[in-house]
Amino acid sequence: MHKKPVALVTGANQGIGLQIAKDLVAHGFTVLVGSRNFDRGEAAARQIAGDAHALQLDVTDQRSISAATERIRKEFGRLDVLVNNAAISNTSKKPEMSVQEYSKLTRASNVSLDEVRAVWDTNVFGVLAVTQAMLPLLREAPAARIVNVSSGVGSLTRNSDPAYAYRSIFGPVYPASKTALNAITVAMAIELESTGIKVNAACPGYTKTNLNNFTGTRTVEEGAREPVRLALLDANGPTGTFSNDEGPLPW
Ligand code: NAP
Repeated sequence: MHKKPVALVTGANQGIGLQIAKDLVAHGFTVLVGSRNFDRGEAAARQIAGDAHALQLDVTDQRSISAATERIRKEFGRLDVLVNNAAISNTSKKPEMSVQEYSKLTRASNVSLDEVRAVWDTNVFGVLAVTQAMLPLLREAPAARIVNVSSGVGSLTRNSDPAYAYRSIFGPVYPASKTALNAITVAMAIELESTGIKVNAACPGYTKTNLNNFTGTRTVEEGAREPVRLALLDANGPTGTFSNDEGPLPW
């Protein structure tokens, strides 16, 4: 079996995922750089100084998930950390369209169900599918951790407050996909409580990445901070929580 702990980060070929991969390598992990396009994964892995390996993984493709799981078992024989980071914000927003314009076209009353399904397929069902596939390996690890990269825009508590700044863009596509991811996080944490596997959700904050056309205000280093902290929790760390790098967030 591989001597060093092994971490898998989904969607790690760019953005916050790539930074999480870099940080986990720096913390002594062998890191599998999940990427739906293998060449982009390899290019990303080459950017990381240290023990990083590209892993073809499309979280919406069960065959890809099964092949990735088999490869991890065969080549490394262990998995200690799973960071469910891969996500998309939409499939139909035109570059010139503002977030506000897109949100008007994707309200609960008028959104295309295909758009909702496509985003939930990646952000919700993809997380569930990858986690189910990786759980046998995670259960064998001495102190496995699962981190779901979520978003404060999915918080039902915040969106129920009329003063919340992003309330006007709360809708069934991306924001509600993160609400659903939060629910899945709690479900996983409850189920795995007795195993010692900790499952937590992190919000990176509004980070400059491809997801928002690089309009974010935080750096990827800042965005990766909370997911990485949760990946490194010791035995006394919490499970079933939602937080950013300033502290707990309301569900
Ligand atoms: P990003 O730069 O667009 O990265 C997203 C990653 O997910 C890319 O590597 C992308 O791959 C991958 N991905 C998308 N669909 C996939 C699939 N089906 N299978 C595998 N990988 C897939 O965005 P980011 O901002 O770093 O996002 C990382 C996480 O942070 C996401 O969960 C996002 O919701 C969350 N988040 C971001 C912000 C923000 O302000 N940026 C705020 C809150 C939460 P390709 O390169 O092939 O497209």
